[in-house]
Amino acid sequence: MDFSRPDNARKINRLKVLSALRHEELSKAEISRRLGINKVSIGEIIDIMVKEGLLEEAGKAAYSSGRPAMLLSIKANSGRVLSIDMRKKAVSVSVSDALGRILRFERFPRTESFREDLDRTIRKMRGNDDVRIYGTAIVNEDIDLSGIIDAPKVVLSRIEAESASEMARMERADDTLFLSWSDDIEAVFYHEGFIPLPQFPHIRAQRDGECSCGGKGCLCTAASGTALLRKSGMKGYRELVSNPAGLEAVRESLRPMAAALSMAVQALSASKVVITGELSALPDSVFEHLQALVDSALPPSRHVPVERSKSGDKGAREGAAILALDEFFYHTRLLTKLSSIESLSSDFPNGI
Ligand SMILES: [Zn+2]
Repeated sequence: MDFSRPDNARKINRLKVLSALRHEELSKAEISRRLGINKVSIGEIIDIMVKEGLLEEAGKAAYSSGRPAMLLSIKANSGRVLSIDMRKKAVSVSVSDALGRILRFERFPRTESFREDLDRTIRKMRGNDDVRIYGTAIVNEDIDLSGIIDAPKVVLSRIEAESASEMARMERADDTLFLSWSDDIEAVFYHEGFIPLPQFPHIRAQRDGECSCGGKGCLCTAASGTALLRKSGMKGYRELVSNPAGLEAVRESLRPMAAALSMAVQALSASKVVITGELSALPDSVFEHLQALVDSALPPSRHVPVERSKSGDKGAREGAAILALDEFFYHTRLLTKLSSIESLSSDFPNGI
């Protein structure tokens, strides 16, 4: 894209306006000040965006002195994103507005004919709602959506979706190790951006246990949800907690989990661990025990809190909606790239 062309520059300024308004309502003057774009240009851009139904007036700011300014906000109803969470036994679908709020949610069992069920569910959920769909986020695996939804899609890992939802609730996320504890174990580290940790489930955390990766004693063979159900003979995670044999399997998995966590925490200099996924709903006593094991594996001066998800089972769909909006509505990645180019070029005032 040639950024010096006026129509491209205008497109980018529109995206900057959307981004500025993503989490707060602002006046035209404030947007102009923050973006460093003159008031006349910003006024023109905003007027068009209001006409198009992307922005709306949100009432006047209450200032103690001077003329109150009209605040602008994103029009939540301007568009939707869909999130589809593909689990081994169930599929869940949700529709969210342009601010990422979930409007509708449905779950159905996953069968051979899940594409037909998906098609039917989405039709039913949309009903007479002919609001534009900006895009779809699919969690956990890529599925063919042709003939079902005519919008771009992005495929996310479970941990990407879940950690995005946790981050929206955290004041500071830097140096956090996020761990999704579900059928599978997945991890990412956040340090000025997400760093995927595909090897985390294959950290050697116990002596035995053949893993599909070819290794031995991998964490996933000791502690993944699938492994726990298999070992305990339980059918689902609820049973895992209510049945003594289930709880015993969970307790046995805590030592390898703590071993892998403390290794990763030390290697990454992580300051916090956040556990998401279905197994983050295990009882408090499980997490207290895990915290004690991690503490005892780390040097005495090093306390790293092991917290559990604040989003709970909404995490994957909320996070998927946030990331779908990032991708298809706010174009966050493009803006981040541009701002790094802009800051680079300001270091070279002669236009190198
Ligand atoms: Zn492995």
